[in-house]
Amino acid sequence: MSLERWLIALFLVLLPSCATGAKAPPPQPGPEPPEDVRLYALDCGRAEIADMSAFGDEPRARELVASCYVIRHPRGTLVWDTGIDDTIAQTKGGVVHERTGIRFRVDTPLREHLRALNLSPADVDYVAFSHLHVDHAGNANLFPSSTWILNRRELEWATATPPPPTIEPELFSAYRTAKLKLLDGEADIFGDGAVRIVPTPGHTPGHQSLVLRLKRAGTLVISGDVCHTHANWQHRRVPPFNTDREESLRSMERLDALIGAAGARFVVQHEPDDLAALPRFPAFLD
Ligand SMILES: [Zn+2]
Repeated sequence: MSLERWLIALFLVLLPSCATGAKAPPPQPGPEPPEDVRLYALDCGRAEIADMSAFGDEPRARELVASCYVIRHPRGTLVWDTGIDDTIAQTKGGVVHERTGIRFRVDTPLREHLRALNLSPADVDYVAFSHLHVDHAGNANLFPSSTWILNRRELEWATATPPPPTIEPELFSAYRTAKLKLLDGEADIFGDGAVRIVPTPGHTPGHQSLVLRLKRAGTLVISGDVCHTHANWQHRRVPPFNTDREESLRSMERLDALIGAAGARFVVQHEPDDLAALPRFPAFLD
């Protein structure tokens, strides 16, 4: 090669690196995957209920929690339920939900909880929903790049026209472009039995619960809204707005049998005591 051609070749090789010399540093990767499965329990908002008889419980006022969960598995990160809409955090004292009269409050937005774990929404591989009510799907649209794990019946029901009265489709509109993993039954998310989703329909048509097997803490069952309170679970009481009363009762029985067989700890997602009994975020169970 002549010197001239050699110089041109050298220039062409160097050109791309010179042109990209000013580019921004690559995004910081999320934290290293943990060795064992970890469960983080998050307070994703509070719901002030004026009269619990609306939920089939005793007629009294109560505050329920909308808990959501981050599961960090060696092979990926899953968020279970997305709580109450983060924008409500901007209003101190919360806002009264027009249709239900429930006062919703968010002290710490989900995005902030994730930041405490050095995670951005884009680091979340899977977002899974027990069901699509406003206090479970409130921040669904934070996760447009995650794979959404939904029961097929739930999505069909929740996206019907007109939408069911308990559903606000704009809260989870990103399902249209997100990667979807639609379930017709049970699913073992990472293929090792550590993170399983089981159908528990009745509260809504495609309602599902989460079963976790942790190395030290053993098996936990996270309820979704198979019941809202311990009392409703004990007395097998079904909220009048559940889509199918008989199916709700059958799901309770099936889940109870699973809990008994596995010797599992049962976490009722809306019970403040159950959240308080778990390690205080950002501490975790493993
Ligand atoms: Zn619900």
